[in-house]
Amino acid sequence: MNSYEYLLSDISNIKGIGTKTSKLFKKKNIITIFDLLLSLPQDSIDRTNLVKINELQIGKVQTVTLNVRKYNFPRIRNLPNRVLCDDETGKLECVFFNSYEGYIKKILPIGSPVTISGKVGYYKKKYQITNPTHISSDVNSIKKIFSSYSLTDGLTEKKYNKIIDTVLKNIPDLDEWLSDEILKKFKYIKWKKSILELHNPKNVKKKGNFLNRLIFDEILSTFLINSKIRKNIKKNKKIKKKFNTDEFVKIKNKINFELTNDQLLAIDQINNDLKSNQKMFRLLQGDVGSGKTIVALIASINVISSGFQVCLMAPTEILAKQHYNLAKKLYDKNINIKLLTSKTDLKERKEILKNLNNNNINIIFGTHSLFQEKIKYSNLGMVIIDEQHKFGVKQRKRLSDKGGKNCDILVMSATPIPRTMIMTVFGDMDTSIIKNKPKNRKEIITYSKLENKIDEIIKFTQKQISQQNQVFWICPLIEESKKIDHQSSVKRYESLKKIFNNKVGLLHGALDSEEKNIILQKFLNKKIDILVSTTVIEVGIDFPNANTIIIENANKFGLSQLHQLRGRVGRGNKESYCILMFKSNLSENAKKRINILKSTNDGFKISEEDMKLRGYGDLLGFKQSGLQSFRLADPVLNEDLFLLADREVKKIELSDNNLNKYMNLLKLYDRADILNDLV
Ligand code: ADP
Ligand code: MG
Repeated sequence: MNSYEYLLSDISNIKGIGTKTSKLFKKKNIITIFDLLLSLPQDSIDRTNLVKINELQIGKVQTVTLNVRKYNFPRIRNLPNRVLCDDETGKLECVFFNSYEGYIKKILPIGSPVTISGKVGYYKKKYQITNPTHISSDVNSIKKIFSSYSLTDGLTEKKYNKIIDTVLKNIPDLDEWLSDEILKKFKYIKWKKSILELHNPKNVKKKGNFLNRLIFDEILSTFLINSKIRKNIKKNKKIKKKFNTDEFVKIKNKINFELTNDQLLAIDQINNDLKSNQKMFRLLQGDVGSGKTIVALIASINVISSGFQVCLMAPTEILAKQHYNLAKKLYDKNINIKLLTSKTDLKERKEILKNLNNNNINIIFGTHSLFQEKIKYSNLGMVIIDEQHKFGVKQRKRLSDKGGKNCDILVMSATPIPRTMIMTVFGDMDTSIIKNKPKNRKEIITYSKLENKIDEIIKFTQKQISQQNQVFWICPLIEESKKIDHQSSVKRYESLKKIFNNKVGLLHGALDSEEKNIILQKFLNKKIDILVSTTVIEVGIDFPNANTIIIENANKFGLSQLHQLRGRVGRGNKESYCILMFKSNLSENAKKRINILKSTNDGFKISEEDMKLRGYGDLLGFKQSGLQSFRLADPVLNEDLFLLADREVKKIELSDNNLNKYMNLLKLYDRADILNDLV
């Protein structure tokens, strides 16, 4: 076994670990020796405080050197075995539950001095240490600071420490993979030394080069893989798309707003990609309502005018239809635009498939099924995927392969995540970011209201409706649940209908998409003024006339989700409102979330705060990304190391771009399997 094989081998290879113990470790997701080494100690226990019995402090962990005097092994089951000990200042009893006499006699032989450390108790006028874990005739092996790890039933501190000690003694020296320049930043600390320092009880909860180096290794391994995928995609040369600015100017004249600088920049970046002979693989990131659709439609018309077809996939049929309608409005009559949904009848469907294959259709709108089905495009030049952040690295890679040689890829996402996370989760893509919202956009005014003030909210709603505005009313669950005290959408719908009559509609997940469509159309055509809904309206849909969103039980939603929901309003020029309804007795965390939402409309700021509250893992699933999640690195706390790794990878790309030097790093950090998928 070489060093890497050893590190990646099952922990049952460690001396002293049997199948029983290794199962306990597996519960804690520690499978390999490497896993064990990267599991940080949680705390340290100081056993250096060597005292006499008359100085013992009850309730504290203390260390005493004692003489063993007398065994007391009761013949009755369930009574503990006791060992009486003393020093020149007093007496102390060691109490053992579940330990055999033979074992006790061995570790505590009568007459000889032993050192014991443990938490001191006082019972029936006697000092006691119950189930002492640290006993030795060698005082120096006990009088130490010990690391303490997260334990589980059956896995004691002593056992864990013993195992760690064994492993630490056998850590191999690894060939260095970091460049000299990077290494210098970490004061030339080696991997092995870093691991040793990581487990040194003196370093528990401390930061330092040892930790930074290991964090950096972890980030670097992820970024290297991303880079490799990006390179791989760009390797394939495509036909350059040729177009001028005519179509762009036409559209600009048709829309009644000015494009923002960020939109113009994104269009520019996309155009450059289209015109190059490298495949575009680009993420267009922008907060809700930042205007990504128009960017996508301008890119599409350019692709069309260069003679290629475009396929735009939305997460829902409603959204696909909305994009389709906008394209109908913006594009010239001679552009053949089609919508394919589950409701498209068979005859038309056949016709569409035929015409896609004949290059008679220029652009097609639909859901992701556009790509999964056996649809043959004659000349596909670009695929656009809207609101898709749940696509992982591997899925994206597959997508890019599937599109064919000349197919550019644009992915749009409204999940505003910090830069470090974009680098991590979308690191295989180039990115365009729309940061600034359209100029005329007003901040959404956010209120919080206790739910017993519902009369005020009803009044507010009446006022909005009388001013020709429309209102979303969001409820968390469909059915009344006895256990969870949520307001159900059905119940709310019924009660609002008593006040607003037939001006109320209800939308929830149990409806089929036809029924959903009908209700949304009614809302869009202003046949209804209030749309009671569960979170199904969360993504993408644009209702410029709705200016108010009321969210019941707002504390049941995460910060980012509330922000997404709030983004359903404030899309027109009107003053817009978001009312967060709460029960009393909010947790501190819930209060924080409300205050953040009230204080800003900036999705990037909100996502950063969300990460601080919830931890980054939750916010954007690593599971979805296909990447192994970080064990040590934190995209918020370690921003500088993420940026450093990003620069380093760019440097590697510019130089020889040879990953051989990093293969061991990639193997260790479990990134290499993605690499194998790439060939
Ligand atoms: P998202 O980025 O969430 O997909 P949309 O593309 O749906 O946002 O745009 C939201 C609304 O903003 C639409 O009604 C759109 O017409 C409008 N819009 C887009 N760009 C601008 C702009 N530069 N100025 C004003 N309104 C704009
Ligand atoms: Mg959108």
